[in-house]
Order: sequence, then structure tokens, then C-alpha cells
Amino acid sequence: MINRDKLYINGQWTSPSGRKTIDVINASTEEVMGRIPEGDEKDAAAAVAAARAAFDSWSQTTPAARAGYLQKIKDGLKARSDELAQLIAGEVGMPLKLAGPIQVGSPIANFGYYAKLVTQFEWEETSGNSRVLREPVGVAVCITPWNYPLHQIAAKVAAALAAGCTVVLKPSEVAPLNAFVLAEVIDAAGVPAGVFNLVSGTGQVVGEALVRDPDVDMISFTGSTRAGKRISEVAAASVKRVALELGGKSAAVILDDADLPAAIKGTVNACFLNSGQTCSAHTRMLVPESRYEEAAKIAADIGRSFTVGDPMGAQAKLGPLVSQAQRERVQAYIRKGLEEGAQVLCGGPDAPPDLPKGYYVQPTIFGRVQPDSTIAQEEIFGPVLSILTYKDEDEAVRIANGTPYGLAGAVWAGSDERAMQLARRLRTGQVDINGGNFNLFAPFGGYKQSGRGREMGPWGMEEFLEYKSLQFKPAKPAA
Ligand code: NAD
Repeated sequence: MINRDKLYINGQWTSPSGRKTIDVINASTEEVMGRIPEGDEKDAAAAVAAARAAFDSWSQTTPAARAGYLQKIKDGLKARSDELAQLIAGEVGMPLKLAGPIQVGSPIANFGYYAKLVTQFEWEETSGNSRVLREPVGVAVCITPWNYPLHQIAAKVAAALAAGCTVVLKPSEVAPLNAFVLAEVIDAAGVPAGVFNLVSGTGQVVGEALVRDPDVDMISFTGSTRAGKRISEVAAASVKRVALELGGKSAAVILDDADLPAAIKGTVNACFLNSGQTCSAHTRMLVPESRYEEAAKIAADIGRSFTVGDPMGAQAKLGPLVSQAQRERVQAYIRKGLEEGAQVLCGGPDAPPDLPKGYYVQPTIFGRVQPDSTIAQEEIFGPVLSILTYKDEDEAVRIANGTPYGLAGAVWAGSDERAMQLARRLRTGQVDINGGNFNLFAPFGGYKQSGRGREMGPWGMEEFLEYKSLQFKPAKPAA
């Protein structure tokens, strides 16, 4: 049992003003694994004041100085990677063997990446009689979800610190323990007081107080589309910059000349990773009508081969969902799919009978799903794949683009060229071509209601920058 009773504000572990606490539940044992402070508005204000006060000097540091701190944070995370992987496997439920490389490996890589980028970036350029400067936007509030908790934190915090912003982090109250380790690492790296602050608590109280605060210049939010809309409304009152990484309902389009077994295996894997709790999961698989029966059989066989079980064991490919609330939500969607007349190819709404403890669900694949049905339109955030059919490429594009979201997707075809032609027609931020791997340093973010702005790589740092142009009188020509 990990008891965190302090917030990290102005370089100090500080007793919170809020007296309440939040229990952190282990997803596979359903036991309380930790406790964190439920901060209040005063805690939010104190963190913003510290970040504001630290901004002037932090924003004037050299890129090389910031690179040094980022590198130390990277090394500090690396030294604690086993502990972090155990924590996240407990909080989120992702199998430990995947949590290590994915949930902890990505944040380490991100801090390392920004340590390099910051010294290579073009901070100034000339345009006519102007010198154009890139400057940090100011105090950045980072609000993050629970599904890849430290990865989502690092994508924001590393980029913001590299840009020269000071930061207040409000991690998810569902999987916050990893964020406290990051704060310890940042403290040990000697980052100046107030540059990074951690306030835990609920979105409605601490989150909204941070979003409302007029001393905050930017909100970088990852989470649900519902919360993203609310944050945009609240932030509008003080005309803050808002970057949003929201939900998805991504389509994998399999064309008639694709390697069908490879495409289906790739799609099921991309749907079920982290028990489907991935914003960019490929949750809709589009196959040509003529190949549906074949595709359904292959998909069902692959779906049934996924072992569900204890994330700490060596066998499980899928762990539990993060919480009881999440399990109920996913089971309700599976029942909805049945009511709407989709074919269940494997799985179903009942919890796996051999796993009485933990928030487990059966990986489920639906066939003959109608494009306008609930399970084809709404983000389920569980291991649930919908197979839809199309008659020609135009219809495939229409179906793929036919949701309010546009975060990710895939195209599988006989050649990369053909896949790319179709990918150009998809209204979505990322498309994997014939099983192309996730690239941590390519721009990540959404079209439509999947969000606004991009994270990762130089694009992620540019979100935290302003332009300033200095105009000069042209030099007098020599007499
Ligand atoms: P959520 O929106 O409930 O919460 C996310 C964070 O926002 C939490 O820290 C929460 O406390 C805070 N929050 C909630 N309401 C708020 C408010 N009114 N004001 C300020 N802060 C508020 O989402 P979640 O359940 O933690 O995460 C799951 C969702 O996140 C899914 O919809 C998923 O698609 C999305 N997600 C998107 C991406 C992406 O990059 N696009 C990545 C991961 C997850």
C-alpha cells in the first residue's frame, strides 16, 4: 500500500489544502494499492502561482541547460523503470511484460528525444526585415488520462519543459502513482523550484480550477471528447491555447488484394492492445463483402487465441480493464451490439468465469456490424472489434470516415502504393500502411472530434511555442 499524502509544489513536497484522499485500486486484485491527496482549488492556485513565478527565469535558460535537465530526468526514469512497470501494471492492468517496454519505455524515449531536439531546433529565423523568435507560451497545465498514464504525461511534460514552459501536471486520479515517481525523479534531477508542479485530484475540482486560472497560458489535455469539450468551453473565458488529444473509432481498411491473415492478425492486435483501452485502437475492421466469411473465421480464431489473465503472470496477453466502471461500460456496449443484431464471432458480455477477481472481460469480435450502429460509432475502450463490409473502395472510404472521430487507422493492400492512395482519402491523423509500426516521433493527434493539435516529435514541442517577430530598419546602403 503506497501512501502519497503530499503534492509537489514549488520544488517542495507540500501538505495539500484539500483534506480528502482518493484510493487507487489494483485492476486485477480489486484491492486498494495506494492513496493520493484529493487536491482542491487552493492547491491548484498554489501550483499555478509557483509555475508563474518560475517562468521568467526558466524561459530564459539556454536550450543546452534544458537538455541537461531532460537527460537527467530520462536517466532517473530509467533507473526506476522496474518499479514504474510494476506500478502501471497494477494501476492499469496491462501485462507487466508489455507495460515495461510500452508504458515505461516510451516516456524514457520521449525525455531522451526532447533532450536532443532542444539543442538542434531552429529557435530563430529571418523573414525580410524581421527576426522571428520561437518562445515558450508560458505556464502550461497538462491534464492526462489513465490508459498510458506515464507516456501521456511524458509526451506533454518533456515537450513543454523543452520549449521553456513551466508546468502544472494534473494526472488521472485512476492511475496517478506513476506521476508521483516522475515528480521525485524531476526533483532529484535538480529542476529549479516551480518549473514542474504536481497536483492530484478530480477533473471537476482541480482540473477545472486549473483550466479557469487566468495565470495559465495553455492547457494540454488528453482524455475523453466529453471532457475535452468542457475544457474548451471553460478555457475560452480567458482565451487560453488548448491542445486536445481525444477519443477515436479508428478503421482498418483491408483491400481485396491484401494478405488477409496478416491484415486480420495485425488489426486484432491493434484493437486488443492494453485490453482495447487505447485511443488509437483499430476498433473497426472493414473487409470486402466477397471475403467476409473467410475474414470472420480467421478473426474468430485469432480472437479466441488471446489469453486473458493476471498481468503479473507470464501467460496473459490481455489483463483486466482498469476499473469496475470501465468494465460495466464495456459490457453494456457488448449487450448493445447483440441487441442491434451484430453476429458474435467470439467472446460476449459475461466476465470470464475462471477469473472471479479483477475487472476482466472476454475479448469480443462482432461480425456484420452496420456502419451506423452504436458499436460502430461510439468509442468502447475495451477489447471489442467490429467487422464491417464494403462493396467498393468509395464505400470503404465513406464508412471509414463516417464517425465523429479521426485519430488513427490502417490500410492493408497488395502494395504500399495502393494502400497509400486510399490512406490519402482518410480523414484521420495517422494511418499504418500494411502493418507499419507505431512511430513515437511522428505527429500524433486527431482530425474532427479526436482533437486539436499534435504531440510527439518537433510538432509536439511546437504546440508549446509562440512566435515573436522583431522588425529592424534596413541597414543604410554604404555611401
Ligand atoms: P477523462 O476525460 O475522464 O479524464 C482525463 C483527465 O481529465 C483526467 O485527469 C480527469 O481528471 C480530467 N478531467 C475530467 N473532466 C475534467 C474537466 N471538466 N476539467 C478538467 N479536467 C477534467 O478520460 P479518461 O477516462 O481518463 O481516459 C479515457 C479517454 O481518453 C478515452 O476517451 C480515450 O480515447 C482518451 N484518450 C485519448 C488519447 C489521445 O491521444 N487522443 C490518448 C489516450 C486516451
